[in-house]
Amino acid sequence: MIEIKKLTKQADNKLILRGIDLSILKGETVAILGPNGAGKSTLLKVLASLIKPTAGSVKINGLELKKNQLEIKRMLGYLPHSSLLYDHYSPLENLVFFGNIYGATEVEQRAVRLVKEVGLSFFLNEPVKNFSRGMIQRIAIARAIIHEPEVLLLDEPHTGLDQGAISILNNVILSMKGKKTTTLMVTHDFKQAAEICDRIIIMKNGRIADDFYIENQNIGFVSKKYQLQVEGAS
Ligand code: ADP
Ligand code: MG
Ligand code: MG
Repeated sequence: MIEIKKLTKQADNKLILRGIDLSILKGETVAILGPNGAGKSTLLKVLASLIKPTAGSVKINGLELKKNQLEIKRMLGYLPHSSLLYDHYSPLENLVFFGNIYGATEVEQRAVRLVKEVGLSFFLNEPVKNFSRGMIQRIAIARAIIHEPEVLLLDEPHTGLDQGAISILNNVILSMKGKKTTTLMVTHDFKQAAEICDRIIIMKNGRIADDFYIENQNIGFVSKKYQLQVEGAS
């Protein structure tokens, strides 16, 4: 589904990505872990076409990112590090506004269903300006998936969420997995990664330092490996 070859990104004479090679299969849920400044967010931004790579190639669903930005963007859902909503609009309006490439009724039905799925039905028509960080994040997640993306890019989605919001978020990610969505999730939360992902990639200093499947691994072993890789190194 995602094929990355020799990807580099340089900014201000600094190499942020130093040759990333990575293949991700359709339907995989992949966590990207690693110390601050490793290049994790930069990698997601390149995939989301928010920034241009310096060299290398990216293919998504067989299409080359360089040549097919718009088509690829339509396949993607992207949840940035901190999400912005339209303050004075309700969850329903925030979702419908974003999703209005479909017929109005269908988007509205989807929006209502998603707002319910993230547990905020009661606030469907309330302006979001007084919502907590967790509530905003839940709406932002709903917005990232309203067009049923084939690839979902999540940048630290668990950060700042309470336990209730975390389990809702995890359920949404798992239900997208059920629809064969390919998910790349940057996180600092090893526990969440181990719980919902199939595979863990560890980035360090613009490179992939480790890449393994969680399947058949003992979580204690994986956790120790992760601590050695990330926490031990920082
Ligand atoms: P991570 O998400 O792993 O914490 P980032 O991808 O945000 O790391 O950033 C990786 C490194 O690149 C950091 O040292 C950051 O300061 C630097 N960086 C990111 N974007 C830019 C930019 N536009 N110009 C210069 N340096 C940048
Ligand atoms: Mg960071
Ligand atoms: Mg980051």
